[in-house]
Amino acid sequence: MTEREARERSGLLSVLRYDVTVDLRDLDAPRSTTKVVFDGKRAGATFAEARDAGRDLRVPVAVAVGTQAREYTRSLTYDIGGSGLCRVVDEADGSVYVYAASGPTAAPHWFTCFDQPDLKAETSVRVESPPGWVVAGTGMGEAAAAVVPTYATGFVAGPFATETVREDGLGVVLHAVRSRAPVLEGVAPGLARVVAEVVAEIGERLGCPAPRKGGELRIAFVPGLAWPAMETAGCVMVRDSLLVAPGSSGYARLVSVLAHEIAHLWFGNLVTIGWWDDLWLQEALADVVGRTALRATPAGRPYAGAEARRVHSPVTLDRHRPALTAADALASAASHHYSAGVRQVQDWMRALGEKEWWARLARVVSEGPLLDAGALAPPERRSTAGADRWEELQRAVAACEIDGPTALGVLLSLLGHERDADRLAGMTTWFAERLRRAGWTRPAGGREAERLVAEALREVVARAPDGSRLAATATYAWVSTAAAPPVRSLLGGLDGGRSAGPLAWAARNRLAALGELGRRGIVAAGDETGAEVATCLAFLPDAGEKERAWERLFAPGLSDPATLAGMAAGLWHADHPEHVTGLVARFRHETAARTDPCSEPRAVALARFAFPRSVLTADAFTSVGELLGEGRLRPASRAAVRECAAELAWGVRFRSQWMNLDAV
Ligand SMILES: [Zn+2]
Repeated sequence: MTEREARERSGLLSVLRYDVTVDLRDLDAPRSTTKVVFDGKRAGATFAEARDAGRDLRVPVAVAVGTQAREYTRSLTYDIGGSGLCRVVDEADGSVYVYAASGPTAAPHWFTCFDQPDLKAETSVRVESPPGWVVAGTGMGEAAAAVVPTYATGFVAGPFATETVREDGLGVVLHAVRSRAPVLEGVAPGLARVVAEVVAEIGERLGCPAPRKGGELRIAFVPGLAWPAMETAGCVMVRDSLLVAPGSSGYARLVSVLAHEIAHLWFGNLVTIGWWDDLWLQEALADVVGRTALRATPAGRPYAGAEARRVHSPVTLDRHRPALTAADALASAASHHYSAGVRQVQDWMRALGEKEWWARLARVVSEGPLLDAGALAPPERRSTAGADRWEELQRAVAACEIDGPTALGVLLSLLGHERDADRLAGMTTWFAERLRRAGWTRPAGGREAERLVAEALREVVARAPDGSRLAATATYAWVSTAAAPPVRSLLGGLDGGRSAGPLAWAARNRLAALGELGRRGIVAAGDETGAEVATCLAFLPDAGEKERAWERLFAPGLSDPATLAGMAAGLWHADHPEHVTGLVARFRHETAARTDPCSEPRAVALARFAFPRSVLTADAFTSVGELLGEGRLRPASRAAVRECAAELAWGVRFRSQWMNLDAV
């Protein structure tokens, strides 16, 4: 499942409730029945997920508008990896235990559901078990069903030993396999004390008591769990090998793991990430909040320094790649989880000051139900994070790692938050010169992409301070991407359409590119021999005009690099490749002769601006290769052409990789 699919599904429906019944009366034939109630926002088709013996199944779901319910009954298989539905035998006494631990993407293994973190629902699990078994899990008992993401659901069932300790009004209920009852008994009083203090401490700091109704927190030590621990709603699960007596060497780690899981009751269960690539943030918050609570409590303090996690990798803030599958997003998020994410969060905390930091955390918790990363980072750090993502986006596109629509999604989210005028200009140029010119949206949709970019830019203009450089930059970028009617009305507002200022010419260039302004109108607006008119004519979607523009690049009068760059932008406009194919041969045969007599800087500029950069075909690439092979160009021009050829090679590769198109 990809993020894009998840977005589509959450746009279609919201889930109100899951009632899951797991039938374990015949342990060799477990079954589950899921009743899901959801609200259709509009009519459409989607799917629910189920996993059977390692196979992912998509169950088609037709969605109508309004509240509706579905019921799914299926037989289940046990998983041996410690996630999903598991059956384990305690070798000490032969007792059998069953548990379901969802964790990211494992919920469909034991109940049919819409498995994505933002579709949270009231969930209650009921287990029909062999007589005498202890059962604990999500939404069980007297507590009301919890509103949780599917990945935080689960249960444990078996002949567990139980210790209940009441501390400060909180009932801490601990379960462990029967054979380990003596250890559990020894550990219970001290552990319950720490747990109760940590729960109270975090609740107080966030102004929101533990998300446990009924004043009870259950913790089960489970054999063979896939993770050291999992914050399953209704029953936190901890791998049973972590259960050790107080005073033994692993006890500090046990305490520290529990503090982390308790913090997940807020950051994970109460507020939840929207998609898996933010998992690092949730994990880092659980670590920092859990550790802070330990340090602040008498019972926890001795263990606050335990277990530094060792993962060293740079953190980038939520790298959104909507086409990535959940598994890939998790894999890329995994490297960010612990130490690196913790450092990032601590950095934010230092920048904001501890008081403001906790105030923001409290706000995030009270606002829920999704975790808003942007609300936690200080503004200047957010823009650093934006810079990281911008660099990462360029790198990923240059390496052909992501497709055009994905890149566009990232770009739009970056544009929406950008406050740096230069970076904004860089982004919009990159969009026009690279992404758009690579034809990545062909055969349809280029205009649609442009419309989205224009919309994002209009919003930047709206929120930028009047007269600021950001407002000016965004306005120019908007003019070069907007549709004809608003551009025409902007132009009309500039001295009745007669302005000769740069914004008016930017508007005319745009109208020319769209075929909405002809040669006569352009020439009438300015000096026929001037740079503005020459540039604007280059934007016309017409082969003859393109030829003339190409010739004008070499004309003596218009030589400053800004003018040449402007003319080249028009000449090689992303929408006009079919009007410039004839220029490939001219570039191949004439460039060397034409650049020969001029100064070296001008020769380099000409080689670069005359290069047929929008003709992304294998033939163009071959033709340029032949020119390079002949040795007629001066070394500096050769280097420029070689650089442009690398760009062209990228464009051809990007296009064939993501669009199965060899040529335009
Ligand atoms: Zn965690």
